[in-house]
Amino acid sequence: MAPKILLAKPLIDQKIEDLKKECAKALAQGVTPTLKVILVGNHPASLIYTENKKKFCEQVGADCEIIKLSENINPRDFLEVLKKINNDTNIHGCLIQLPVPKQLADLELHDLIKPEKDVDGFHFQNIGHLYSNNSHSFYSKPCTPQGVMSLLKYYAIPVEGKNIVVIGRSLIVGKPMMLLLSNANATVTLCHSATSNLKFFTQHADIIISAVGKPRFLNSDYIGTNKPILIDVGINRDTTGKLCGDIDFDNVLEKVSSISPVPGGVGPLTILSLTQNLIATTFYQKDLK
Ligand code: NDP
Repeated sequence: MAPKILLAKPLIDQKIEDLKKECAKALAQGVTPTLKVILVGNHPASLIYTENKKKFCEQVGADCEIIKLSENINPRDFLEVLKKINNDTNIHGCLIQLPVPKQLADLELHDLIKPEKDVDGFHFQNIGHLYSNNSHSFYSKPCTPQGVMSLLKYYAIPVEGKNIVVIGRSLIVGKPMMLLLSNANATVTLCHSATSNLKFFTQHADIIISAVGKPRFLNSDYIGTNKPILIDVGINRDTTGKLCGDIDFDNVLEKVSSISPVPGGVGPLTILSLTQNLIATTFYQKDLK
């Protein structure tokens, strides 16, 4: 049987309608969910990413402003901008687009935005809630791993009791992915560049989630005979400049039961999660019904 291709589009189409309804509810109660995206400098990829975030928010009826700051802004002025945003009760979410120039690199960026406005889910308080699997407090969860969870749920792929290998341990993808899966009762193995015999782990996994950042790194040698499910978080360019994931898609196809493609798989789900976090935190902060 041909493997199932796990496309994001049907999930996104469905969730956009849900978000529009939620946003309309907020608007009816006099609140416009409002996001500020801080962009420092003119990094070309960052310009595209921030525009995409703005477009998605506006599509569901939320407000999003990109605050463009000079590449040379000094840390004091940068902190002043954040202070104003943190104190403005009409702003419900904020994020700092990475990377930032080196004069800002020493700031604890993840902690500068109030936890309730941290729609990226990177604030240490929010990570702490995730770490302790806190079900009593409201908090935003990191967007890309949350997007992977949404994709698995949409395609009715259970994780409870499954043997899941996550490759990559970054703070934005791999580690929070491990926590979300563990909180959902999966058995998770977190692999990284110092993992010896990575193939041993991947060949025994029910689900493999790759967030390595190396074009077509994972080929059929890494796949066992149990027809696993593969989720590709990687967004890479190959030597010809073509967009590709971490997984050698054509090479593994025969050995898997389901696979997310690049492009069209996990990629657009980050912005979906971000917008979901914005709407949810607006309801939380304004006590909306
Ligand atoms: P990082 O570079 O921060 O992390 C990469 C991870 O891969 C590290 O933990 C590293 O291990 C591990 N790694 C590197 N080489 C190997 C190897 N040979 N074997 C096993 N593990 C290895 O990347 P990010 O997590 O930020 O991003 C990963 C990928 O996901 C990128 O392609 C990025 O573009 C993409 N991405 C996609 C998003 C989306 O879909 N919207 C959002 C964010 C990222 P170690 O810790 O030991 O160095």
